[in-house]
Amino acid sequence: MSRIRTGDPALIREINLSIVLNALRDHASTSRAALAASTGLTKVTVSALVQQLTQAGFITERGIGKAALGRPGILLELNPQAGGMIGVEIGVDFISLLLTDFSARVIWRHHEQTDRRAAQATLLKHIIANIRAAIKQAERHDLAIFGLSIGLPGLVDVAAGVLLYAPNLKWRNVPLRQLLSEHFDFPIHVDNEASIAAFGQSFFGAARGKRNMVYVHAGVGIGGGLVLNGQIVTGATGFAGEVGHVTIEPEGPLCNCGNHGCWETFASESAVFERVQQGIAAGKSTHLARLKNGKGEQLTIPLIVEAAEQGDLAARQALCETGMYLGIGIANLINTLNPEMVVLGGTLSLAKDFILPVIQETINERALSWSVKATQVVIAADGSDACLMGGIATIYDQVLRHPLQTRRVRATA
Ligand SMILES: [Zn+2]
Repeated sequence: MSRIRTGDPALIREINLSIVLNALRDHASTSRAALAASTGLTKVTVSALVQQLTQAGFITERGIGKAALGRPGILLELNPQAGGMIGVEIGVDFISLLLTDFSARVIWRHHEQTDRRAAQATLLKHIIANIRAAIKQAERHDLAIFGLSIGLPGLVDVAAGVLLYAPNLKWRNVPLRQLLSEHFDFPIHVDNEASIAAFGQSFFGAARGKRNMVYVHAGVGIGGGLVLNGQIVTGATGFAGEVGHVTIEPEGPLCNCGNHGCWETFASESAVFERVQQGIAAGKSTHLARLKNGKGEQLTIPLIVEAAEQGDLAARQALCETGMYLGIGIANLINTLNPEMVVLGGTLSLAKDFILPVIQETINERALSWSVKATQVVIAADGSDACLMGGIATIYDQVLRHPLQTRRVRATA
């Protein structure tokens, strides 16, 4: 059991260090005097904290600024070279990775499609090889690594680092953190993709500063992440936000989770493909039919969006109908949670021009008007990077909270 450290000078110092770093994240290039003004700490305290953080490599000086009053001060900013952070997303049919420096600037990225029928061991080997490639890039840029964060499309025991169940990947009980720790020495965080993305959106995305927001990830499946009163909602055992498996039609199609008529069976990628195919079968003139039957190419959301932009009726109708079902689920969330913002991410957000107006129309019709007035529905700031940038945010947040306790690992690939 941890002791309560009330009045503990070391604890107060740790909190103050964190306050200074967070202030520099909010206002890049700030003088010591401006930091003192914005944090409420004395100039003497700020100077001592800045000295400690500079020695530890977190802060760097950057020229002289103009002062409104008094002497111009030396400008400070977070040192981009303080360390690197790796975000990983394991999707149902892809792996994505990002490496950023300490200013959260992306310095390397990699995306590859994977075969959803591939064996788990094969995919894990791929993931490990890709993490090694990220480490190589960190070495090239002379960055030690703060940590790695992985988003997964399923239920995760975050404390244990175990993926419990990913219905669309058909993975069960995978001790991912333990498996990766055998290869890598830096801290590894494993979490649900939508929870991570929700955190990222409130940390530096579309919902920065919003205390009540819902993130909806619509891709192969539908996931959700909730931030209420400024806190990520985990629920009693960590599974809050599984909005994709809320029943909206008792006799509806069979879902990968075993239930019938879940929201994601009506409003995910496969629902869009199904509707396009129905359009083709009904004899709608569409060049998607030629794509699908001619060269055996698979339908993808980017292809369907491109067709819709060219006026293709089957594509437009499929996106419009899917937008209506997305709107139904979002209206339910608005009535339940009264959020300030609903952020939509995942591949379906690529179809924003076609689905957002229908979503708005549907929630106007179906959610309580008082709640709708308070809610803005927007597309995720980082688009398909929302989960990856969320991963970076979780590592960043930890470092900013406990800078001097943070390990930096000089990893070699
Ligand atoms: Zn389901």
